[in-house]
Amino acid sequence: MQPLLLLSPDLIQTNPGLAIGLVVLLAVAIQTALALVGTVRRLSHQRRQLELERIRLTVLVKAAKTEWNNAELEKASWNGWRKFRVHQKVYECEDVYSFYLAPHDAKSIPGFRPGQYLTFGLDIPGRDRQLVRCYSLSESDCKREYYRVTIKKERSPKDKPGIPPGVASTFFTEGVKTGDILNVKAPTGHFYMDTGKETPVVLMGAGVGITPVLCMANQIADSGSKREAWFFFVCRNGQDFMLRNDVERLRKSDNIRVYVCYSRPGSGELPGKDYDREGRLSPELLKELLPSSNYDFFMCGSGPFMKDMYDGLIAWGVPDGRVHFEAFGPASVKRVSEAKTAPAAVAATSNAGGRVTFGKSNISCAWDGTAGNLYELAKAQGIRIDYGCGAGSCGSCLVAVKSGDIVYKETPGFSVEAGSCLTCVGCPKGDVVLDA
Ligand SMILES: Cc1cc2nc3c(=O)[nH]c(=O)nc-3n(C[C@H](O)[C@H](O)[C@H](O)COP(=O)(O)OP(=O)(O)OC[C@H]3O[C@@H](n4cnc5c(N)ncnc54)[C@H](O)[C@@H]3O)c2cc1C
Repeated sequence: MQPLLLLSPDLIQTNPGLAIGLVVLLAVAIQTALALVGTVRRLSHQRRQLELERIRLTVLVKAAKTEWNNAELEKASWNGWRKFRVHQKVYECEDVYSFYLAPHDAKSIPGFRPGQYLTFGLDIPGRDRQLVRCYSLSESDCKREYYRVTIKKERSPKDKPGIPPGVASTFFTEGVKTGDILNVKAPTGHFYMDTGKETPVVLMGAGVGITPVLCMANQIADSGSKREAWFFFVCRNGQDFMLRNDVERLRKSDNIRVYVCYSRPGSGELPGKDYDREGRLSPELLKELLPSSNYDFFMCGSGPFMKDMYDGLIAWGVPDGRVHFEAFGPASVKRVSEAKTAPAAVAATSNAGGRVTFGKSNISCAWDGTAGNLYELAKAQGIRIDYGCGAGSCGSCLVAVKSGDIVYKETPGFSVEAGSCLTCVGCPKGDVVLDA
């Protein structure tokens, strides 16, 4: 017979001791169950707390590591020119080569922030003075034996075929060979992805503008970061697809989405196999593919490409501070926030109505601030001044000031001698005469 059947109501009624015992038993069972639920709740809360603490500590450790790396980077950096040997020159596609550069002194080389560039001092045969040019690092800084830059030969302008192609890029792609020694300044630049953060990013490169953003994507893949990243690249077709192996390798990372656009696919090139989408990379495509606009956007490419993307992103509601870009030539994008962020001195002179005289060219014009800087003003007048980084750090655009004062939009990367001016970041304070 089953034990419960023994506890008939009659038996309980006739046996008050048994009834009390049952009540006590029930109370104990309920209390035990409640205590158990409480313990489970407490434990799961504690687990959640521990998990949060673990995440907090991971972020702190990462931030400390980044701080440490940055400090190491500053310490191991060098001033002025250092000699690097071309360890390897690799053909990427028509007109484009990658150069792997190892330090000639065989000492270690510092890391860098993904997106930064190297400055080269080139002694090109037949030229009387050194030519300075900047090239972005195209590989992550996880590989510390060498630096890699990827350089595209700049052809003559389509409307001026009589003009020779780009001097430095032709020298690199056609003249420089494995074993050659080059003068290189340490990695620098303000366009970089903060590796101390894990916030999602959208990386966009057009043509050779792929180099700094690929470096960022490579950094995410090589460091094992789980940061969400979207990598967009646009080129004409497979013939122009530089650094293809790197891009295809990115597809293996779960957290990186790769999207390659061909603006003019070749015959036989198929979507889904050779590329992802036909057409240009546009703000509309981003809106179609991205789940939201809540990203940091990094881009590099031609002037019109960046202007379109910038305007589209701002119109989409992306805050100005979350759109980052690098121009390989003079600036094409004017930030909506520029007027607000310009230092007071520049703001005060931007509409000052002073005159800028280019002595050598015998040209004089009014300064109303719209050109943005003296380099742009000279260019608009058809006056050619050498150009390097566009950020006041390489010294290429330095010209002598014959009279007048200069103010800087951004603090130059080195102390500019009195009587000289870095035109790419300089503005006139009243009337000035430049030796250009
Ligand atoms: C931060 C930064 C990073 C960069 N990263 C890269 C990179 O990763 N890869 C890369 O390939 N490039 C990069 N660049 C661009 C690079 O620095 C050079 O600007 C580029 O290689 C062209 O230099 P060049 O000496 O070959 O051309 P230049 O000799 O300066 O000529 C440039 C163009 O002007 C034309 N030209 C020459 N004279 C005249 C004239 N009188 N009138 C009209 N047109 C004329 C030339 O035919 C050529 O098309 C970067 C630039 C910056 C600022």
